[in-house]
Amino acid sequence: MVDITLDGLTRSFGGMTAVNNISETFPEGSVTCLLGPSGCGKTTLMRMIAGLETPSRGRILFGGRDVTALTPRQRNVAMVFQYPVMYRTLTVEENIALPLGRDRGLSAADRQRRVEEVLDVLQLRKLRRGRMAELDIGTRQRVAVGRSIARRCDVILFDEPTTNVEVHAKLELIRAFKQFRQQLRQTIIYVTHDQTEAMTLADQIALMQAGVISQCAPPRALYEKPDSEFGGWFLGNPGMNFISGRVVGTGMQFDILPEPISMPDAGADIRLGIRPERIRVALPGTPGTLPARIERRFITIGGQYLLTLRIGATVLRARVDGALGRILGNEAGIDCPMQHLAFFRNGTVMARP
Ligand code: ATP
Repeated sequence: MVDITLDGLTRSFGGMTAVNNISETFPEGSVTCLLGPSGCGKTTLMRMIAGLETPSRGRILFGGRDVTALTPRQRNVAMVFQYPVMYRTLTVEENIALPLGRDRGLSAADRQRRVEEVLDVLQLRKLRRGRMAELDIGTRQRVAVGRSIARRCDVILFDEPTTNVEVHAKLELIRAFKQFRQQLRQTIIYVTHDQTEAMTLADQIALMQAGVISQCAPPRALYEKPDSEFGGWFLGNPGMNFISGRVVGTGMQFDILPEPISMPDAGADIRLGIRPERIRVALPGTPGTLPARIERRFITIGGQYLLTLRIGATVLRARVDGALGRILGNEAGIDCPMQHLAFFRNGTVMARP
């Protein structure tokens, strides 16, 4: 096992900087998801770690060893791409065994043992003699994952492997991924633009924006304590509500709070953030709540309601249970508990007032 260190890593294409001076360490044996909107530099960063793209500046270290100048093979990395790269006329078993054939240090018995292990872990045993061409793309991708783990590389890189897989097969693939993680602990970098996938799979999420990692933290911490408005907005469906305030004396007044909050540096660039599910919504007139108007409502797949609420000049979204959502008319009472509020100055989180 190795950890992966990026040291001032930069990649420019002409005048455009796709990855901008990233320094970060991903711990050995962990899964790091590179998550971010289209064009933020996820694929470019992953390709540099793989050895498929040459950095303009900076270094990459595996377990303290500088691998920047090494080829993918010399780095001992395996890769799984969006489209499974396979030999269509070979069987599942043969595809998994193929890369092991190149390893001269491995006896035939060891090779077979590895194949059996992968077939078990990824629940491919029944399909072992199936030809790749006969399988759906989700299963083919599962075989591709099998091929990558059979080699026991130090590092495995996944580039959006579930993008072209239909939703049920995708869940199956994610389940298989979690299963093999319990048994094998290679260091994994997993590129995705799907936040649910990242929240499910990652030990830590490296959230990217415009060529930099804006925050790298375990999924729960990233969700609960984003250190920027970008993190609060990007994670969540919908993301965090952001509410501007007005300076009142030595504090600031926000429409969703009953009283001004005193802060030493009150100013117009301070915004308050709260997640939709953290807003307490009740029947109108409930003690301890502020009156809000319900402007729109949607029922979600899980049966919850997503409400668009207006309170003064502020519009915010809240998530409520089906039972409450069904009985609410056009008015509600809301309460935004202090412990669930975050405060941002110029887009960056600030200490709690
Ligand atoms: P997506 O989720 O859409 O794949 P991404 O986050 O993976 O996006 P990259 O593919 O790394 O982003 O691209 C980052 C930026 O670098 C983009 O603006 C892209 O157009 C640019 N870029 C990437 N590769 C090249 C290249 N070979 N030549 C020129 N520009 C490139």
